[in-house]
Amino acid sequence: MKAHDGMYIGGEWRGAAGTDTIAVVNPADEQVIAHVPAGVAEDVDAAVFAAHEAFPAWAATPPAERAAKIAALRDVLVARKDEIAETVTAELGAPLQFSQMVHAGVPILVAGSYAELAALYAFEEKVGNSTVYAEPVGVVGAITPWNYPLHQIVAKVAPALAAGCTVVLKPAEDTPLTAQLFAEAVHEAGIPAGVFNLVTGLGPVAGQALAEHPGVDLVSFTGSTAVGKQIGATAGAAVKRVALELGGKSANVILPSADLAKAVGVGIANVMGNSGQTCSAWTRMLVHTSQYDEAVELAAEAAAKYGDRIGPLVNAKQHARVRGYIEKGVAEGARLVAGGAEAPREQGYFVSPTVFADVTPEMTIAQEEIFGPVVSIIRYEDEGDALRIANGTVYGLAGAVWAADDAEAVAFARRMDTGQVDINGGRFNPLAPFGGYKQSGVGRELGAHGLSEYLQTKSLQF
Ligand code: NAP
Ligand code: MG
Repeated sequence: MKAHDGMYIGGEWRGAAGTDTIAVVNPADEQVIAHVPAGVAEDVDAAVFAAHEAFPAWAATPPAERAAKIAALRDVLVARKDEIAETVTAELGAPLQFSQMVHAGVPILVAGSYAELAALYAFEEKVGNSTVYAEPVGVVGAITPWNYPLHQIVAKVAPALAAGCTVVLKPAEDTPLTAQLFAEAVHEAGIPAGVFNLVTGLGPVAGQALAEHPGVDLVSFTGSTAVGKQIGATAGAAVKRVALELGGKSANVILPSADLAKAVGVGIANVMGNSGQTCSAWTRMLVHTSQYDEAVELAAEAAAKYGDRIGPLVNAKQHARVRGYIEKGVAEGARLVAGGAEAPREQGYFVSPTVFADVTPEMTIAQEEIFGPVVSIIRYEDEGDALRIANGTVYGLAGAVWAADDAEAVAFARRMDTGQVDINGGRFNPLAPFGGYKQSGVGRELGAHGLSEYLQTKSLQF
């Protein structure tokens, strides 16, 4: 695959400060497909400087003009969507159809939503004898993971640009080619030099330099809870704005009145879609004791049917980690009804769609984020029990509730400690705020709520 050997800084591809590179591996066949530069603190410095220089003019650009540039960016993403899908498939391993629909499709939707929001948002409001202005926070340091490589970039960059902020992005080391493609799209869209800058590199080097940089006014991070805590602490010490989108262990709550086959089928597909590498995946399926055996049978069938259609995990480390969790599930007494720890192919980081029955709420596989194609089916006795189990982890990112009618499901969902719940298989909405309760994070992405994260208010009294 083609790759740039520099960083996108100040509107051009510049040589990297150091000579180290990162090998990009295709997880389906373990072959090296490209190399990108491993950025160091000097690269981050140069990128933050460029973003700082570009900020006053971009912040002063009328929202309608910023909106037009974001619309142009969306149009480039549309024109290059096949290339986006192929790139994500090459470096993440997602099946091509999933890459086309989700990895390319969703960022196009989100970019489009911010083109509209930038034009419509009330950046000025009257409150009594005051006029309140919503002003951009400044230079944004964005640090993104590999699991939805383009979506997570667009979910930060589009609202930041709509708000009038400028950005330095440090993408995940596993998926830098998608980030380079995005930088090309920014350039093609005619977004002014320095408004968006890209530094590829390793988390503890380039990522940390960005998070700690005094010239960065807001850090927006998506990734693991461990790194998120560190970034939150650094930002706190510097009295810097921070948004954290961390892990999840979401519950798929199937109430006894629900259409069981549909709830189980959609629930399994929800986890397997990106090989389980989705922070909001419903990895715990909660089923009433009266329907438990039937649900287990349906889930095992659905997982087996998924079989060969599943993509690999992103890298060797995740492959080992996920298989370790499956072994731990067995060791703690859960019952494997589909899949298992054994690698289904000789080459590539594949794990079979795996389903555990007889999982109890305190087991490791029911508490920790596995980030693989593994579903735990947990039994509940009554609704109170279901709610205690659903809320019984440190996370609270997403979830689902199924019942005969929406009102019954809503009543349950309102008692869940979580940021987003799909009612009876509700569709993805790019305008709905996304983000966590509890240790799933701080702040919200998407829609108007996501835009407001990049704004601060100034009140003038008359
Ligand atoms: P991660 O290390 O938290 O990676 C997220 C981003 O942070 C990457 O760009 C990473 O760079 C960077 N980073 C790492 N250490 C950093 C540091 N000290 N300072 C600043 N930035 C740093 O996550 P991971 O290792 O890729 O995945 C581990 C686990 O995290 C997964 O198994 C999963 O449980 C969770 N995860 C959650 C999400 C989510 O959407 N909530 C996404 C991905 C992973 P590198 O790419 O170089 O590491
Ligand atoms: Mg990492």
